Amino acid sequence: MHADTIVLGAGIVGVSIAVHLARRGRAVALVDRRQPGEETSFGNAGLIQQEGIFPHAFPQNLGVIARYGLNTSLDMRYHLADLPRLAPYLARYWWFSRPRQFEAIARSYARLIAASVSEHAVLVNEAKADGLIVRNGWFELFRTAAAFDKAGAEAEWLSREFGVASARLDQAMVRQVEPGLKTGVLGALHWRDPWTVRSPHELTLAYLSLFRSLGGHFVKADARTLNQQASGGWTIATADGPLASRQAVLALGPWSTDITRRLGYRIPLEVQRGYAMHYQPVDGEPLRNWIADRERGYLLAPMLQGIRLTTGAEFARRDAPKTPVQLAETERVARQLFPLGVRLDPEPWMGGRPCTPDMLPVIGPAPRHNNLWFAFGHAHRGLTLGPVTGRLIAEMLTGETPFVNAEPFSAGRFAAL
Ligand SMILES: Cc1cc2nc3c(=O)[nH]c(=O)nc-3n(C[C@H](O)[C@H](O)[C@H](O)COP(=O)(O)OP(=O)(O)OC[C@H]3O[C@@H](n4cnc5c(N)ncnc54)[C@H](O)[C@@H]3O)c2cc1C
Repeated sequence: MHADTIVLGAGIVGVSIAVHLARRGRAVALVDRRQPGEETSFGNAGLIQQEGIFPHAFPQNLGVIARYGLNTSLDMRYHLADLPRLAPYLARYWWFSRPRQFEAIARSYARLIAASVSEHAVLVNEAKADGLIVRNGWFELFRTAAAFDKAGAEAEWLSREFGVASARLDQAMVRQVEPGLKTGVLGALHWRDPWTVRSPHELTLAYLSLFRSLGGHFVKADARTLNQQASGGWTIATADGPLASRQAVLALGPWSTDITRRLGYRIPLEVQRGYAMHYQPVDGEPLRNWIADRERGYLLAPMLQGIRLTTGAEFARRDAPKTPVQLAETERVARQLFPLGVRLDPEPWMGGRPCTPDMLPVIGPAPRHNNLWFAFGHAHRGLTLGPVTGRLIAEMLTGETPFVNAEPFSAGRFAAL
């Protein structure tokens, strides 16, 4: 069996890369050990964050750090036993989040984010997936004037510097857009440019169907069998024998370092885990919009499967057992904000946002291996950036001029760490 390119990982990032390569006439085998889109790309909040110029930074305010240290915040939890192992990552994460470093990072990141909606639009159109998309932005709710004013000032800066569109809504206006809200909301920011997705899993599957219609193949196999041949090409083991290709792309999300480590790269990638649960809507009080309770750090989304609650970050080993205490406590607060019926899932879903310390994804050629490409580390914005990364990798791999300068995303930047 032979392909021009093997794409390892069939989450939103890998599927988008596979589509972009197939559109350019490449014979592509898309590989996953599970069915496509069943891991991190499954249970996320469904935001295509065209406004998300700022990646999620490590707090710089000592009061906030001290509060997080208590490990009782809704928006951030950690496993105490994993802190020693996570400490080098957290220290670098803090360092890159300092204002000077962070501004430069945000300016690189902004070039990817700027294309997030337009790149999804191309694939949504070709995949005929319009029914999964809502084009009404999303709402960030505020409970205190101080937080609302601070966020308002940031929104004005984003508008001036990057043309991000938002509107400030007072309490009465918020009630109009979301009549079911129960209490405590002072106002909201309406981010108007983003799109939202009514089932991120189904969107991944729609892009997969597009890939197949372009002649691509999905193959179930374990990426850990990847081997480089003397010829410079790659093989992996499948149930039907070895699958060979000239090029390979690693898009394994949180599992990417299982392969990079074996190949001798020390790429610092950790996970910020998050939980999700679906709830039955309460009769007569449907959730109309994607709403984030900014000061408590969770989001409610009207998904096809029900109202999806997604939590903030949990710092823990990728493979540590689930500890959905954060979800249970968030659910209690969310029920005070909006009517939620019974839980619809037998157990909480958990995903690990794959995060680098400098908050930028890794997109580009492997520094020391020919014909190998990296595409992972999309952190809180992998759904947003999947098609952008797909285009960028396909352009670089086929020798086209990349539509943005990909240098800030190269894996080589970690050599200095
Ligand atoms: C609670 C939560 C909310 C989020 N909300 C948003 C949001 O609103 N907007 C947004 O843009 N992003 C959001 N994200 C982040 C987003 O979900 C991720 O960044 C994105 O899904 C990562 O996609 P991926 O394709 O890189 O990884 P994945 O979707 O995890 O895909 C990696 C694939 O690799 C496969 N794999 C792993 N190991 C192997 C192996 N050995 N062999 C073969 N296959 C293997 C897995 O089965 C998987 O299918 C959220 C994340 C969480 C946890």
